[in-house]
Amino acid sequence: MNTSDQTATCRRRFLKQAALGVAALGAPFSLAAAQNDRKAADSFAFGLVADVHYADTEPKGGRYYRDSAAKLAAAVEVFQREHAAFVVELGDLVNTGPSKAAELSYLKTVCGILGRYPGPKHFVLGNHCVEKLTKAEFLTACGRDPRTTYYSFDHGSHHFVVLDADFLEDGTPYGAGNFQWTDSWIPAEELRWLEADLARAAGRPTIVFIHQNLHNDGNPHAVKNAPQVRKVLEEAGSAVAVFQGHMHTGGGAQIRGVAYRTLRAMVEGPGIENNAFAVVRVNKSRIDFQPFGKMPDGC
Ligand SMILES: [Zn+2]
Repeated sequence: MNTSDQTATCRRRFLKQAALGVAALGAPFSLAAAQNDRKAADSFAFGLVADVHYADTEPKGGRYYRDSAAKLAAAVEVFQREHAAFVVELGDLVNTGPSKAAELSYLKTVCGILGRYPGPKHFVLGNHCVEKLTKAEFLTACGRDPRTTYYSFDHGSHHFVVLDADFLEDGTPYGAGNFQWTDSWIPAEELRWLEADLARAAGRPTIVFIHQNLHNDGNPHAVKNAPQVRKVLEEAGSAVAVFQGHMHTGGGAQIRGVAYRTLRAMVEGPGIENNAFAVVRVNKSRIDFQPFGKMPDGC
């Protein structure tokens, strides 16, 4: 299947969900419609960026680490222009550095850029975030509470869940490079928390953020116990979409009524012309995904 065929297939999948009145992902929304929607009580937008991988180092392969600074600055301008209610960074905010001090200096640069956006910012833990740092060190440097690596919040009519798949099979948290990037798990304790959290949300439509993938079973980018996580989401019956990073080309699927969408990595490709990020507009009955730059619009 070539890329355009894949895009067409995925768009159809997302439109099928729209026909069910649950959510639409894939069709860029019209600006006029968005402006009208903004007046509605439960209509709002949020910004999404994945795999920034900022580092003050030379490019390697397709990854242009330094260029992510200008790309992220451009994304922040769009998030402000589009009145994003909050911004979610989907993991791998910085690339691996030669030392803890180097990684902290990369974080200072990139968090300074994100800080130009004045609203709430959510940081999903990626594998590269904890190559030299612990989770607590990373989150503290980002200005987040270091005690909560997974949590939820409500906005408008929707419930939002930030998951942390940076764990080994026995529940040991990733930290300071004690892991293989392909060995990602959601531990039993987090699964129990998710089940209880979705029950507390009492059917509120739910959007999930995670770095590693909850579809793509068997792929090295997938969470090893993704089927267990999907079962919790499916049984709650309220999950409409899952936004992910980690697999830099992007992609997606729809499984049992839940749309899984992996964002293309911001770090891929030189210069601002290779930027990739998205604005997601939410209202009661639909979700519209607006891609920017090289972000595919189909899935
Ligand atoms: Zn990455």
